[in-house]
Amino acid sequence: MNAIPIKDISETSAPTRFVGGSDRASKHPGVERILSRLGPWLPWVHVVMFLVFLAVLVVPVYLPESAEQATFLDDGRVLANYLLWGVWFPLVFFSVVITGRSWCGFLCPMGAASELANRHGLKMQTPAWVRWPGTPILSFIIITLLGQTTGVRDHPEATLEIFGGTFVMAVIVGWLWGRNKRVWCRHLCPIGLLLGVFARLGAVQLCPRKWKSGPDELTDKTICPTYIDLPRKRATRHCIECLRCILPGHTAGLAVSFRRPGQELESIRHHAPDGWEILFIFLGAGVALGGFLWLVLPFYSDWRQVAGTWFIEQGQYWIGKPGPAWLMSVHPERREVFRWLDFFMIAGTMVAVMALSALVLSVACLASAGLARLQGGTASLFQAFVQIGYSQAPVALMALMIGLATELFTPFLRLGMTAVQVSNAKAAMIFLGWVWSVWLAWRILQGLGVGRGRWLALLPSAAGSSAMAAAWWMAVL
Ligand code: SF4
Ligand code: SF4
Repeated sequence: MNAIPIKDISETSAPTRFVGGSDRASKHPGVERILSRLGPWLPWVHVVMFLVFLAVLVVPVYLPESAEQATFLDDGRVLANYLLWGVWFPLVFFSVVITGRSWCGFLCPMGAASELANRHGLKMQTPAWVRWPGTPILSFIIITLLGQTTGVRDHPEATLEIFGGTFVMAVIVGWLWGRNKRVWCRHLCPIGLLLGVFARLGAVQLCPRKWKSGPDELTDKTICPTYIDLPRKRATRHCIECLRCILPGHTAGLAVSFRRPGQELESIRHHAPDGWEILFIFLGAGVALGGFLWLVLPFYSDWRQVAGTWFIEQGQYWIGKPGPAWLMSVHPERREVFRWLDFFMIAGTMVAVMALSALVLSVACLASAGLARLQGGTASLFQAFVQIGYSQAPVALMALMIGLATELFTPFLRLGMTAVQVSNAKAAMIFLGWVWSVWLAWRILQGLGVGRGRWLALLPSAAGSSAMAAAWWMAVL
C-alpha cells in the first residue's frame, strides 16, 4: 500500500493535500459536519422530488390543449414544460460546474428509486453488456434520438414517455442487478455519463483522506453505491455525492475540498483519463447538435424531397405514412405529424452530424497530440489524444446548456429583454465555452510537457473547438 509519489500529482489541486496520508485532517470540517447531518434527510427529499416529478410529467398529459398565446403564468402545460426545460435543465447544468453531481445525490428521484428497488430485488450479477463502457454512450444517443423524433421538448406525452420510461427502466434495472448498489446510475442512465464528464469541471471534489496506490477501478467491496474504490478514487466522474462516505472525525472515507472549475481536466493525466469519455464528448455533442441543425439547415427540405420522391418511385408508399406515436411525433391536434420519411430523415441527419462531429474533433485532437509529441510531449500518441480530447468539454457544455435548456431565457424575455439581447447572451455563452476550451487545451499541453511549440500544438485542437462553437452558433442562434 504505497502512497502515490508527490511528483505524480504535482499539478493536481486538492489531491496534493491528502497525498500519502501526510495530511489527513479535513480542510473543511464544518462543511463535512453539515453534509453528514444532511445525509439522513435525503430519502425525504427524494420522496418530495418524486411527487414533483409525477406532477410535472403526468398531470400535463391530462390538461386541456394550451392556447397559442399561453404562458407559464396562466397555463399548466406551459408551466410544466417551463419547469423542465427552463428550470430543471439549466439548474442541473449550472450546478454540475459548481458542485459536481449534487443533482444525482441530493435530488434525483430516479436514482433513489432504482437503489430502493435494488434493496428488495433479485440482486443478480450485473451482465457484461451492462458493464461495457460503451453502454452509457449508446443510452445517451438512443434517448437523444428518440427525444427528437417524438418531440420531447414540445409534447407532454413524449416527455412522459421519455422521462417516465427511463424511470421505470431504472427501477427494473435496480430490482434485477447489483447488491446495494446503483447499477443504473453507474452504467445505464442516459444522462449519467454527461453529468459525470461535466462534473470533472466542477469546483467541489471529494478526495480520499488516505490515498492507496493502484488504478481507480470499479469494485464491489465498497460502501459506495456507484462502485468507487474509495481510497483509490482519482476521478469525479462516478461520484453522485450521496454523502455516505463523508465521515467527519474519521481517518477513513472522503474529505470535501474545493478547486477552481476545470482544474481536474487541466491535470487530467492524474485523474484517470478515459478514452470512452472522449468518444462520448465527441459523439454526444454531435448528436445533440444534429437535433437542432436539421431545423435550420437550408438544404434539409430539399434532401427530404429527393429522398421521398425516390421512395415513391420505388413503390414504397409506406414512407409517407405516420409511424407509431411512441417512436415519432403524431399530434394532428397540434398540426404536427411525422411520417416514416421524417423519422428516417431526422434520425439520419442526427447520426450523420454525430459522425462528422466525431471525425472533425478526432482529427483536430489527433493532430494536436501528434504536434505535442513533436514539440517534446512525453505521453504516447493515444494518451495525448485522450487528454487533449477533454479540452472540448467546456464548449460542448455551453452549447448543450443553450440547446437543451430551451426555456432558459423565457423569464428574461418577460422581464423586458429583447430577442436580440437573448441571442447576444447565448452567443456570449458559446464564446465563453470556446475560450475555456482553448485555455484548457493550453493547460493540458503544458501538463504533457510541451514546451516552446505549445502554440503550434494548440492550433488544431482550437480549430476543433471553433468548428463546434460555430456549428452550435448556427443551430441555436
Ligand atoms: S445517474 Fe441518472 S438516475 Fe442516477 S442519480 Fe444521476 S441523473 Fe439520477
Ligand atoms: S464517493 Fe462517496 S459521496 Fe461519492 S458516490 Fe461514492 S459513497 Fe457517495
